[in-house]
This record gives sequence, C-alpha cells and structure tokens, in this order.
Amino acid sequence: MKRTTKKPLDAETNAASAEALNVLSAFDFERARTALLRWFDANGRTFPWRSEPTPYRVWVSEIMLQQTTTQTVEGYFSRFLDRFPNATALAEADEATVLKYWEGLGYYRRARSLRAAAIEIVERFDGDVPARFEDVLSLPGVGRYCAGAILSFGFDARAPILEANTTRLHARLLGLRLETTTAAAQKILWRAAEDWLPLDSGKSRKPNVYRRLNGALTDLGRLICSPTSPKCDACPLAEFCESWRCDLQDVVPVLKKKAETIPRTDVAFWIERRDLFGDCGSGGKRCDGSTCGEGDPTDVLLIRRPENALWAGLWDFPRFEITNEAFRDALDFAADVELCDRLQRFLEEEVGAPPFDRRPGRVVYTVKHAATRFKITLRFCRLAGAEPILASSQREKTLFDGFENDAASQVLPPTSRRSKVAKKTQTPKTPESGRVAAEVRWVPLAELDAYPLSSPGRKLARFVLKNRG
Ligand code: SF4
Repeated sequence: MKRTTKKPLDAETNAASAEALNVLSAFDFERARTALLRWFDANGRTFPWRSEPTPYRVWVSEIMLQQTTTQTVEGYFSRFLDRFPNATALAEADEATVLKYWEGLGYYRRARSLRAAAIEIVERFDGDVPARFEDVLSLPGVGRYCAGAILSFGFDARAPILEANTTRLHARLLGLRLETTTAAAQKILWRAAEDWLPLDSGKSRKPNVYRRLNGALTDLGRLICSPTSPKCDACPLAEFCESWRCDLQDVVPVLKKKAETIPRTDVAFWIERRDLFGDCGSGGKRCDGSTCGEGDPTDVLLIRRPENALWAGLWDFPRFEITNEAFRDALDFAADVELCDRLQRFLEEEVGAPPFDRRPGRVVYTVKHAATRFKITLRFCRLAGAEPILASSQREKTLFDGFENDAASQVLPPTSRRSKVAKKTQTPKTPESGRVAAEVRWVPLAELDAYPLSSPGRKLARFVLKNRG
C-alpha cells in the first residue's frame, strides 16, 4: 500500500495557525451574526439570482460568476435564462447554441461544463438540481465553493462558502498571518466559514438564515472589507475584528505573489474565398464557384478552434502565434519565414487551397486583449495582394480595450453581396497534432453575426463587416 507522509508545518506556520485558531475559538458568533444581518438587511446587494433563488438559477449564476464580475454577469443572466429556463432545456441544446449565449462572458470551458452538468442532472436527477452536497459536487464544473453556494443560496442549506471576498473577510477577522492559499490557511478559513453558520435547529430555525448569512459575508467582504482601504469605520464587525484591533488591515490577507503576465503577438487573417481560389483554373477570373465548390467569392474563412487551445470549440479567424522574437512588434509579417510556412501549410493542408506562394499582407487592424496569463497583441492581416490600396485620408484610427491601435486601419470599398449562399464545410486533410483548426468553414458575411466567436474574433468580425460596407 502506498504510504503518504504529511509535510511538517514550520514553526512560523504553527504559531500563525495557533493564533488564528485562538481568535476563532473566542469569537462571539451570536452577537456578530446579529450585527452582520442587521447590516445586510439595510445594505445587501440585489441580483436577479437572489430575488428568485431557485437552485437552477443559483447554479447558472454561480458558474457565470466564476472569474467574472457580477456587473458583467447581470447583462447575460436573464438572456441565458430566457433561452434555457431549466436544466432540461439546457441539456437539449447543442453546444454551439449554448456557446452563442455565453459569447462575451469568456472562459468558455464553463459553458461546456454547464451543459454537460445539465445533461447529468436530467439523466441522474430527473432534471432537478440535486440537494445533497456530494451529488452537487459530482457535477462537471462544480467545486467545493460552488457546491456550497448552490446549497446555501439555492436550498438555504447549512453549507459554508469561501471565495475571494469571504476569504479576505475571514482572514482579516481572524488576523490570519498565513498566505491564504496554503493548506494550513485553507483549513482555518473553511472552519471559520462553517462556524459562522449556526447548527440547524430543525423546525425552529429562522427561514433563509444560511442564505442570508452567506450573502451577508460575501457582501460585507465585497463592499466594506475591500482589498485595499477597507472601510473599517463603517464595518458592523469592527468590534470583533482582530485585524482592526491590531491594525493589520494592510498586512492581512497575506497573498500569493501573482504570476507575471506574458506578452504575446498573434496574427489573424481575413481571407476571402476569392483570395485563394481566384485563379484556380477559372482562367484568371474571379472564382464563380464552378471550380472550388458552391459559394460566394466574398465568403470569409473561419476556423473552429481546436481542443486545448484558448477558446476551444469557438469559431475564429485563422490565427497564429508569432514565435520569432524579431517580429513581436512588427506591422508587416511578409518576411517572417516561419509564419509564412505555417500559413502556407494551413491553407494547403487544412483548407485545400491550390499550392501558390501566399504571404501575409500588411496589418490592417490591431486588438489588444488579455487571456489567462497572456497579454496578447492581435494583428489582423489580409493576404498579400488582397489588400486594397487606400489614400491615407481614408485611414481611420481605432481604439480597443484602452490601447491605441498602432496599425493603419483601412476602409475597404463595398462589394456586392449575394444573400443566399450555400455553406461549404471542409474536413481538415491532415490528422497532425498542432493543427490550426478543428474545422474550417467558408462563411457568408451575412452569417458572421450568428457564429459563436471568441471575443477578439467578434471584434475582428465587426471590423470586417464595418469595412465591407
Ligand atoms: S473592521 Fe475592517 S478589516 Fe475588519 S472586517 Fe471590518 S472592514 Fe474588514
């Protein structure tokens, strides 16, 4: 049998743990709860998932709130609930539809987990969100905090929660001088979160007590016990707070050093069908669809992003990371041999384009955005030769995400559009790993809006539509 050995705690950790546990043991929860709930009744926040806290609504809101602010979620929650009013409706929807309703919220893995969990809820629990902790925890996308939140907010069950706001609040109340993500700190913090909830006294317990207490702790952490400059003068728990008593507000919570962000440059391509097939045997004329299949020459090439990539499963413009340091800040990538080679292989092997030499045209647009730990500068290009030549007076300046676009944006001449165009899906021709796309598709301009795109992809699509007239 495999034996596991626990790493002994160092003396400093032991001392800090003991101090915090002493404060916790002596904590006057009875009086503190009364003060907290009085404050909550007057100051608690209102949200759609709080005003009608069914388990299903709470569960959807909690998944949406992971890594996303309440302000952002509020804009999506009602629309999502209108389209998927219960777990059955969500389980029956296809992934692309769910992703479309999630578009803009980011972290799309959550949307896929939500749908997978809905399928399990239908199959294992007859379509109702389960009320047992172990069952909720077994659902995809649900961790310890989320299970506690679903149970306490959705069912008013005695279930502790610990997220960023309550972690900070409990750590300060206890004067906890341990880095909050360590095992020793987590043990103490979870115990504090649980001790705040009185034992269930059965029929005599007050209705909504767990729902209200967890809501109050979260709101107090968010509104009063803020990360910097906590408003201790307005805090209903000041008299119970070890950090306030010992003036530790700036020292506690002890935070882990943030991972550094990594700058990265990507190049995405705006490629129209005619850019690849314009002279593919049609006598040097624009393709009329007779040689390369059904389709409009102005259809735009989109890819479905491969598994394990950022925005996996969503649609996007063909996109490549720049690996050659010399081109990190470039506005012209025609001389980047590595990029040209990858682009060429992608077009020939995954899109099925004729083997002509193709190079990136100059940058027409730039979007700056962050994704996980990357700070990405996304350059948008057409293929060389496909770029229109514009008078400098026609160039426009664009701003995105607070960064000035340092590439020349271009206004393209409008082209005529055919409204009814058959869609052609091509399966990638090579099974190689590391390929650019899980699927490639020529998309009529009129359909771009309907595709679930990555958030930067959506910005690029808007740029295409705007500049296409
Ligand atoms: S007294 Fe200050 S530090 Fe203590 S819980 Fe209240 S706001 Fe936070």
